[in-house]
Amino acid sequence: MRKKLNLSAGILSILVLVSVQTYIIGQIWMQKDELFRMKYSRLSTEALDYFENENRTNGFDTAFAYIEYYSGIILNSDIYKNAKPEELDTVRTIIKTDIAEMLSEREYLSKLLTEYFSKHNSEGKISTSIVINFFDLIDFNTTHTIFVNDDYLNDRSDKSKIFVSRFKNENNHHRVSFDFYIDITGKRAILFREMLISLILSILSITVVVIIFIVAYRNLLEERRLSELKTDFINNMTHELKTPLSTITVASKTLELDKILNSRDKIIETARMIGKQSVNLNKLINLILEISIWERTEFEPEMKQMAVGPVLSDIVRGFRAGHSESAVIIDNISLEGISIKADVTYFTTMINNLLSNGVKYSPINPEVKIEATSDGTEVIIKISDNGVGISKCDQKLIFDKFYRVSQGDIHKTKGLGLGLYYVKRIAEAHGGRVELRSQPGRGSTFTIILPV
Ligand code: ADP
Repeated sequence: MRKKLNLSAGILSILVLVSVQTYIIGQIWMQKDELFRMKYSRLSTEALDYFENENRTNGFDTAFAYIEYYSGIILNSDIYKNAKPEELDTVRTIIKTDIAEMLSEREYLSKLLTEYFSKHNSEGKISTSIVINFFDLIDFNTTHTIFVNDDYLNDRSDKSKIFVSRFKNENNHHRVSFDFYIDITGKRAILFREMLISLILSILSITVVVIIFIVAYRNLLEERRLSELKTDFINNMTHELKTPLSTITVASKTLELDKILNSRDKIIETARMIGKQSVNLNKLINLILEISIWERTEFEPEMKQMAVGPVLSDIVRGFRAGHSESAVIIDNISLEGISIKADVTYFTTMINNLLSNGVKYSPINPEVKIEATSDGTEVIIKISDNGVGISKCDQKLIFDKFYRVSQGDIHKTKGLGLGLYYVKRIAEAHGGRVELRSQPGRGSTFTIILPV
C-alpha cells in the first residue's frame, strides 16, 4: 500500500513538473511569437514610409483603376440590374472573387517588402493575404453594398498573421477597403531555433528529476527487500537455534528419568546427542559472530602462496568423510604445480559451502562433482550437482545476503541464506568471480575462476 502511495506521489510530482514546464515553454513561445510579429510589423511600417518617400508603386493604383472600370460594367450589366433576389447572392460571390483576384494579381507590395526585409537582415520568406473589409458599387443616387467582412465590423485583425496596413479607395463607381497581411513562412522553425536552449534546459531538468526519482525509488525497493530478507534471516536463525536447544533440553530432562539412570548405554547415547547438538549450536553461534565481524570490518583475507591441488583434495576428502552415507562425491582435480595466492580458511569455507549446497539441494541420490583445471593464467573450479536447479530469475538473487529461494524447500532445508553470499565475496576478494549455470530440475554448476 505504502509502496503504491510512494510511486503515485512520485509520478504525480513528475506530472506536475512536466505540466509546469510545458506551461512555461508555452508562455515563452507566445512571447517570442508576439515579439516576432511586432518586429515584422515595425519593419513593415518602416518599409511603407520608405517606399512612399521613394515614390515606389505598390501596384494597388493599377488594381483600383481596373476595379473602377469593372464596377462601371457591373452596374450597367443586366446580370446585376435584372438579377432576381434569389440570384443576388451568387452574383455577389462572383463580384467578391473578381475583386480579390484583381487586387492580388496586381499588388507589388509583397515584392517590395521581401526586398526591404532581406536588406534589413530579417530571415524568412513572406506570404501575403488580402482581407477585403467592404466593397460597395455606387451609381448616382444609390450605394449597393456588395459585401462587408465581419472582421471589419468587429474591428478584429487576423491573429496568426502580421497586419501591414489598411488600404481604402473611392471612385465614381466603387468604394473599397481592405487589409494587407503578411505571414513569414518558416516562422515556427525560427522561433524553435530561438527557443532551443530553453527547451533543452527544460527537457534536461525533467530528465534529471525522472532519473533521481527512479534511482530513489529503486533504492527504496532495495532497502525494503533487504529488510524483508533480514526478517527472514532472523526467523531462520531462530529456527536453527531452537532445534539443537530443544533437543538438548529434552535430552537433559531424559537424563533425570529413573529408566535412563539405570542404563549406562542410554546415558552415553544421550550425552553424545547433547554433545553433538552443542557442537551444532556452537557452529551456528560462530557463524553469526563471523557475520557481524565481516559486516563491521573490511573483509581482508590473509593471502599466502598456496598449492591449490592438494588443498582442494584435502577439502574434498574431509567433505566426503562427513557425507559418506548421504552423497556421492566425485572429484577430478588436475592442478599439478599450480599455486595461487589465497587465504586457506576462506578458500576452504568457499568450497565447502558449494559442496554442501550441492548435497543439500539434491533431494534424490545426491551426486556432487568437483572438477578443477587451469590454463596457466586462471584456476577453474567447477562444482556441479544433480539437484533441484535454480530458475533464471532466482539466479540473479541467490548471491545476495540472506536470500533463499522461497518456493519449495525453504522449510525442509536448513540455511541462513549466507553461503553463496560468502562464496561470492571470498571469490572476489581473491580477484576472481563465480559463474552459475542451472536449470530447474536439472541440477546446477557453480564455477569459481581465480587468477593464478
Ligand atoms: P542457504 O543454503 O543457507 O539457504 P545459500 O546462500 O547457500 O543459503 O543459498 C541461497 C539459496 O540458493 C538457497 O536457499 C537455495 O535455494 C539456492 N541454492 C544454492 N545452492 C544451490 C544448489 N546447488 N542447487 C539448487 N539451489 C541452490
